[in-house]
Amino acid sequence: MNVFIVLAHPEPQSINGALFRTAVTTLQAAGHAVKTSDLYAMHFDPVSDRRNFTTINDPDYFKQQLEEIHATEVGGFTPEIEAEMRKLEWCDLMLWQFPLWWFGLPAILKGWVDRVFAMGRTYGLGRIYDQGVFRGKRALLSLTTGGPAEAYRKGGFNGDIDVILRPIQRGMLQFVGFEVLAPHIVYAPVRQTDAQRQALLEVFAQRLRTLQTESAIVVGDY
Ligand SMILES: Cc1cc2nc3c(=O)[nH]c(=O)nc-3n(C[C@H](O)[C@H](O)[C@H](O)COP(=O)(O)OP(=O)(O)OC[C@H]3O[C@@H](n4cnc5c(N)ncnc54)[C@H](O)[C@@H]3O)c2cc1C
Repeated sequence: MNVFIVLAHPEPQSINGALFRTAVTTLQAAGHAVKTSDLYAMHFDPVSDRRNFTTINDPDYFKQQLEEIHATEVGGFTPEIEAEMRKLEWCDLMLWQFPLWWFGLPAILKGWVDRVFAMGRTYGLGRIYDQGVFRGKRALLSLTTGGPAEAYRKGGFNGDIDVILRPIQRGMLQFVGFEVLAPHIVYAPVRQTDAQRQALLEVFAQRLRTLQTESAIVVGDY
């Protein structure tokens, strides 16, 4: 497989950093081709505006989706965005590694989606969900939480993690056509011992070695 891994964590020594490196080395060792975007290391700018484009459709009124359609037609995405789009188009599997922040994606990764998932190029004209541009590709969320597993069950004090992740898995990944694998969730790594954290890295590696045989999950709609 061609695997594209996106990391959204500001500290390389974090457990997210360790999970990211585990994914890169394990997948490469299994014979897969890997490309990465370490968003903080790249100083990726998450703010979406005219800087997404080298072209201008309407100089008087900035409407992002119309600029995106125009840029798709004339090749007008800024090199930073074009490079990310090409990795998306290249991959068979995309993996996002991130900590759960405020029940969602860290802003740098949300901003990456805002800028890279562009109308015309990655969705639009009826090409969404089952007819999405990236149909046939698969995606995997690999995330860590502060709260323990019992807090993220239905009725737990934070609520059902599947519902919390649905805007990401349905509203972003499936929207542009990806099939979604079961999320890989490390609950409360901060509360674990070093030995437990080393063991969970090996559990992740074991899952990655057989990822190719996994089936997509039903994410569910609203
Ligand atoms: C803005 C913000 C919003 C948040 N919102 C939420 C929320 O909505 N819900 C929620 O549950 N939590 C939330 N949190 C908490 C957050 O999700 C956790 O702090 C995060 O998931 C923990 O992952 P980390 O990589 O940052 O851990 P780190 O604290 O960086 O790492 C955990 C430990 O692992 C150790 N470690 C690193 N590498 C290895 C290795 N190879 N082997 C063994 N140990 C290793 C590190 O040294 C560290 O001691 C939020 C935090 C912030 C900052």
